[in-house]
Amino acid sequence: MHKWWARRLGSVFRTILLYSLADDELDGWNGKPNSLWELYPKDVNLDGKVVLDPMMGGGTTVIEALKLGCKVIAGDLNPVSWFLVKKQVEDIDPELIAQTLGKLDDEIGTELRRYYQTICPECEETAEAIYYFYYKVSSCSKCAKEVHLMRNFFLAKSPTGSSDFVVCPQCWNVFESKNAENSTTCSKCHQKFTPTEVSFSRGRRFTCSDCGHSEKIVDVAQKFGRYRERMYAIEFYCKHCDVSKNKNLVNGRGYKAPDKSDRKTLDSAIEEFRSISKNLPIPDTLIPLGVETKRALNHGYRKFSD
Ligand SMILES: [Zn+2]
Ligand SMILES: [Zn+2]
Ligand SMILES: [Zn+2]
Repeated sequence: MHKWWARRLGSVFRTILLYSLADDELDGWNGKPNSLWELYPKDVNLDGKVVLDPMMGGGTTVIEALKLGCKVIAGDLNPVSWFLVKKQVEDIDPELIAQTLGKLDDEIGTELRRYYQTICPECEETAEAIYYFYYKVSSCSKCAKEVHLMRNFFLAKSPTGSSDFVVCPQCWNVFESKNAENSTTCSKCHQKFTPTEVSFSRGRRFTCSDCGHSEKIVDVAQKFGRYRERMYAIEFYCKHCDVSKNKNLVNGRGYKAPDKSDRKTLDSAIEEFRSISKNLPIPDTLIPLGVETKRALNHGYRKFSD
């Protein structure tokens, strides 16, 4: 949910609040910016100060000001923002939360978890899928061939930071390379490429790798409708490799290309979703034209359920 308001770091807001509100009454404050760092990790109490945030969004100011003991008045035009922030600052009953989570786990945990399983490429045991990577697929309006809208083939820094995970643009193999900015050779098909430089789409345009035709991405979406999505990598956690301290993974974490069983899992998830989607409370109305919705419409989305 945090993506709704591109939340900033709490640390930034703590600093702003401390610097704006610190005064002579505050122990350890000498009026100079540097003395802030002494105060920063301490349990500071700015009791009596009032903070007003009329556009609170995700509520970072609210949370940080409350931590500093301020009285906070905040609001937002968006009711979802209000709901989220209200839930964040309300008193909670930890026991009730643990009970509810336990109940959810009993009722749907096992059923849902089977959709987040993948085979560990190291030990071939069942691992947990942490994150799925997708790219969008469009069609070239000149030759009708598929266009993979990939900006580059760098996937992620390895958890140790000492190497990069990259994707082969020819066979979609996922493998580790020393530096994604340098030329590398695919460990499977031996294609030579520089992951950060190979690109099938740049900015707002793509260039068809087959016929060389170049076009604006949104123009194609207007002609053919919204893009299809394709899974191309999975981040996983393998308990077995974590316990055995497998050196090819870091704390059991790694990246892999989806295999047959991953595609089968995805297909069965899609199938199940289709069979129950009619009974789910998913808004099926048309997206109205507005400042925030124009982008979605340009990219071929017509209904909220798209
Ligand atoms: Zn493993
Ligand atoms: Zn390859
Ligand atoms: Zn083409």
